[in-house]
Amino acid sequence: MKIIINGIHANLRFSSAHMIPCHEFCGGIHGHSYHVDVKVEGERGGPFGFVVDFKTVKSIVRDLCKILDHKLLLPEKSKEIDFKSKGESLEFAIGDKEYKIPREDCYLLPLSSTSAEDMAEYFAEQLFQALLQEEADIKSVGICVNEGIGQGAYFEKTVE
Ligand SMILES: [Zn+2]
Repeated sequence: MKIIINGIHANLRFSSAHMIPCHEFCGGIHGHSYHVDVKVEGERGGPFGFVVDFKTVKSIVRDLCKILDHKLLLPEKSKEIDFKSKGESLEFAIGDKEYKIPREDCYLLPLSSTSAEDMAEYFAEQLFQALLQEEADIKSVGICVNEGIGQGAYFEKTVE
């Protein structure tokens, strides 16, 4: 069985800035009001016959959103971003564009890009790892990271 959580209604949201380096339209810093839809598939169990408690899943995903909220999201493993300093300010270059932004205004993600696709993989992996700590029999975790209403990337992480 699957439980499904709608990110808009369950308030799994964050507003952040990012850029897609070297992309014609998305290469400049811009923002999205993201929301994150969640599916968790598993066996029903425990005293209440839950797949996993909605509250547990929402709390984990909300915490992940909170970390990213009102930050400039930067992909630490980007091939296009040349990080020169990661001190109090993040100094980096993308081609001949140079940036210097206070560290506290940024969040570095262990990703090669902050596309919706990469963010969906990130959320799915983080949620999956967090749910391993719970006493639930989980088969898969599906995440849709929406860049506003009407477009998002969906990734499903399945137990091997
Ligand atoms: Zn964007």
